[in-house]
Amino acid sequence: MKILLVGAGLSGAVIGRELAEAGHDCRIIDSRPHIAGNCHTTRDGDTGVMMHVYGPHIFHTDDAGVWNYVNRFAEFLPFQNRVKTTAQGRVYSLPINLLTINQFFGTTLRPDEARDFIEDKADTSIDDPQTFEEQALRFVGPELYQAFFKGYTEKQWGCSPTELPASILKRLPVRFNYDDNYFFHRFQGMPRDGYTAMIAAILDHPRITVQLDTAYHPDMAAEADHVFWSGPLDGYFDYRLGRLGYRTLDFERFDGRGDYQGCAVMNYGDRDVPYTRITEHKHFSPWESHEGTVCYREFSREAEPGDTPYYPIRLVEEKALLEQYVDLARATPGVTFVGRLGTYRYLDMDVTIREALDTAQTFLSHESGGKAM
Ligand code: UDP
Repeated sequence: MKILLVGAGLSGAVIGRELAEAGHDCRIIDSRPHIAGNCHTTRDGDTGVMMHVYGPHIFHTDDAGVWNYVNRFAEFLPFQNRVKTTAQGRVYSLPINLLTINQFFGTTLRPDEARDFIEDKADTSIDDPQTFEEQALRFVGPELYQAFFKGYTEKQWGCSPTELPASILKRLPVRFNYDDNYFFHRFQGMPRDGYTAMIAAILDHPRITVQLDTAYHPDMAAEADHVFWSGPLDGYFDYRLGRLGYRTLDFERFDGRGDYQGCAVMNYGDRDVPYTRITEHKHFSPWESHEGTVCYREFSREAEPGDTPYYPIRLVEEKALLEQYVDLARATPGVTFVGRLGTYRYLDMDVTIREALDTAQTFLSHESGGKAM
């Protein structure tokens, strides 16, 4: 079969590879000048630092199948994300852990004492937290919420945490020990040569052709037996029902020498600091050594048409519109919508790969029947 895959990010590359290995011819197009979508990494010409061009990407998963898969295509070196935050004039450790609690409250609590202490602060009248704010007040109480989450979240999402779902905060653990690893997952690491090299290796198959700087045109679909669409779901339908909301990021780059901030990611919890965080890219590759350093101040705002979409907003308004687009997608034979943009969900890389592998599997098992969704 002739397969067209729109988008050369993780979804397109993984599905393309699986189908190519099963004997299908895969044409992958991408409107950008590079592969790897928002995981794109590149070596900075001035300093030699490996840059996470669209912001930090740290690979973490509990899925052994996905971990084996990525290790087939890249050498992963150990990397644990240890995030710090500057709030109310001091630096703290994230995710909230025993050190954060003891430093913030000036205490010397042990784990059980800290648990009781935080439970006293928590608003236990909130039975089933629905919003981000309720989730925070229920699990960490007002002081930690104010310092670490409220301002940051207002900047990140451009709205009040009372309007956001609890699920966004559920991504972050609270720990009653001194473990400051940002993620719980068993497998964590960073591809030694960056994500773009890993995705190039996935795409390196004789049945795959990749065309960059190439916008989709319906004529291309007419030449294919099936299309996998990893571009924006609403974009496929020419935004005919309206636009699904996204947050986009602006990065303000600054260069220096040596070590600017001593860690890869420093968040800024205060509302009056306009950026959400500063990333210092050399710290994502701690096995390398560079004289120079490159940092990004990260600003979040609502995406305008033409901006790179990052985070699906998924507020009530978007959810209703999303349902209509999902109905349209279901009624579109011969096209499978995949990935973060194609399904309008906040997906980590490991989940994206798992879904891509499963989608390819489903497609291959229904091959003769045509559409797989
Ligand atoms: N968050 C926050 N303060 C922080 C870090 C995160 O309030 O210092 C909130 C914010 O709303 C964010 C969410 O928690 O969107 C999830 O955080 P995560 O670090 O997973 O965000 P990502 O790295 O995906 O942007």
